[in-house]
Amino acid sequence: MPAFQRPARPVAKGNGKWRPRRKVCQFCVDKVEYIDYKNIGKLKRYVTDSGKILPKRVTGTCASHQRMLSGAIKKAREIALLPFVAD
Ligand SMILES: [Zn+2]
Repeated sequence: MPAFQRPARPVAKGNGKWRPRRKVCQFCVDKVEYIDYKNIGKLKRYVTDSGKILPKRVTGTCASHQRMLSGAIKKAREIALLPFVAD
């Protein structure tokens, strides 16, 4: 099993501040059926500072919305709303 799929190591009670939280797809929560590629304010939350699309294991986005999202980000790049790469 690749390291990134390993479940988070359980922490002792009351120890440490970080607690693994169940990630939910923000688009499912908002019942989004179509991700608007012109909505860069939203899209920007799903790309890194250098313009790369964040993997769903980071954002918690479900598979179908992740697909929609990457399509929207790619479209936004084409019309120069988002950078392909930023330094
Ligand atoms: Zn979803």
